[in-house]
Amino acid sequence: MSTNVIILGAPGSGKGTQAAKLTHYLGISAISTGEILRANISDGTELGKRAKEYMDKGELVPDELVTEIAVERLGRSDCTKGFLLDGFPRTLAQAEALDAYLSGNGKKIDKVLLINVTEDMVVRRLSGRRVCRSCGASYHVATMPPAKEGVCDLCSGELIQRSDDNEETVRNRIRVYEQQTLPLIEYYRGKGLLASMDGEAGLEEIFAEIVELLT
Ligand code: ADP
Ligand code: ZN
Repeated sequence: MSTNVIILGAPGSGKGTQAAKLTHYLGISAISTGEILRANISDGTELGKRAKEYMDKGELVPDELVTEIAVERLGRSDCTKGFLLDGFPRTLAQAEALDAYLSGNGKKIDKVLLINVTEDMVVRRLSGRRVCRSCGASYHVATMPPAKEGVCDLCSGELIQRSDDNEETVRNRIRVYEQQTLPLIEYYRGKGLLASMDGEAGLEEIFAEIVELLT
C-alpha cells in the first residue's frame, strides 16, 4: 500500500525537518518544491533565474511553474510507493491542479498534516537558522548549534544562511502564507483529510504523533 501525504505549515514550522525524518522512516520520497527551486538556482538554470526573483522577496513562484515541477517529480517511478509533499501545494490553484493530476492517474492524497506555530516562534526560528550547503541539514545558532561553528556535524559541509531567512523576507513569507496558503486548511478539512498538530511541541514528539497517524 502506498501512503501519499501533504505536510502543511508556515515557513519555519519544522515541516521540512519532519519530512526528512519521515521519508527515512516510511521509505517514501519527500518532494520539496523549495529544494528543487534552490537546486535550480545553484545550477544556474533558466527556471532558477526566474524563481530567484520571487524567492528573494519571500513571494510565491507562479503556480504554473511550481505545478509543472511538482507534477514532473510525482510522475517518477519512486513515487509509486508513496510520497510526501513539503511546500506544495501552497495555493488553492495548486491544490486543484494537484487533485486533477492525481485523479487522472488513479491516485489520491491519504492525509494532510498541519503543523501549527505562532508568528513569533517562526521569526525566531528562521532568523537563527543555518543550513548545510552540502547535505541540507538544518541548525539554529541558539537552540541547535553545530559542535563547531559554521560546520555541519554530519558531513563537515559549510553552514550558510538561506538568502530568504532574513527578518524582512521572513515577515513577508508569513504574510504570503496567511493570505495564500491558509485557505488550504479548510479545503482539506472539508475533504476529511486534515490532521493538525502543535508545532511548539518537540521535534521527536511531533514525529511520534505523525508516525502513529500514518501507520
Ligand atoms: P519555507 O516553507 O520555509 O518558506 P520552502 O523551501 O518550502 O521554505 O520555500 C521557499 C520559497 O520557494 C518560497 O518562499 C517560494 O518563493 C518558493 N516556493 C516553494 N514552493 C512553492 C510553491 N508550491 N508555490 C510557490 N512558490 C514556492
Ligand atoms: Zn552537511
